[in-house]
Amino acid sequence: MKINILTLYPEMFPGCLGYSLAGRALAENKWSMNVVNIRDFATDKYKSVDDTPFGGGAGMVMKPEVLDKAIASIHEDEPIFYLSPRGKVFSQSMAHTFANMEKATFICGRFEGIDERVIEKYNIQEISIGDFVLSGGEPALLTMLDAVIRLIPSVMGNADSLSEESFSNGLLEYPQYTKPAVWQGKEVPDILLSGHHANIAKWRRHMSEEITKQRRPDLWTTYCQK
Ligand code: SAH
Repeated sequence: MKINILTLYPEMFPGCLGYSLAGRALAENKWSMNVVNIRDFATDKYKSVDDTPFGGGAGMVMKPEVLDKAIASIHEDEPIFYLSPRGKVFSQSMAHTFANMEKATFICGRFEGIDERVIEKYNIQEISIGDFVLSGGEPALLTMLDAVIRLIPSVMGNADSLSEESFSNGLLEYPQYTKPAVWQGKEVPDILLSGHHANIAKWRRHMSEEITKQRRPDLWTTYCQK
């Protein structure tokens, strides 16, 4: 997967994506990033990238002509996304869709965001990582890409652990335990030590359902409707 990133803070990338699973995959060229500094396309002597909003109000807006030049410098036919609290809320199923894309461009906003006309010109889709306001799109994109990169088919070694994790089947994950079998007087559930795979699978499914029912009634309702 080839990822273009448009940002005013190029030094924030790859950031946490340079470590662990994503970092190894980057080193092995299983995904690549091309980071573009939007400020390089500013034309005035102050290198300004923002201006006051028409209609008044607080804050600044990213200038259309600067962002447009930045986009034009790299854009081919790949889809363009803008990280924005107004966007469709990112989910595990969207992560799977992105993981199978060959190429995508992401714009990280700052200030009050970007001029609406750029969104219209490039038919940009907005993506939110949740109902809260960050000061910039960079942490949102890092979070989103972390979820995407681990799902790239060649990146995740053990496909089994993908099919069992939270959200993959519409449920939250069952409790996990590792050695020792008794820790500070607390025992691991007997069934997990039994070696009986069918019963273990049944117990895990039951625990997944109970946890989803209690913690996320919204997910449980959707699950029951399927
Ligand atoms: N004025 C905007 C918020 C701007 S926040 C509004 O009220 O909707 C500045 C930048 O942070 C945005 O341009 C966007 O790129 C990023 N951002 C903030 N919250 C985000 C979220 N929940 N998801 C994705 N990006 C977000």
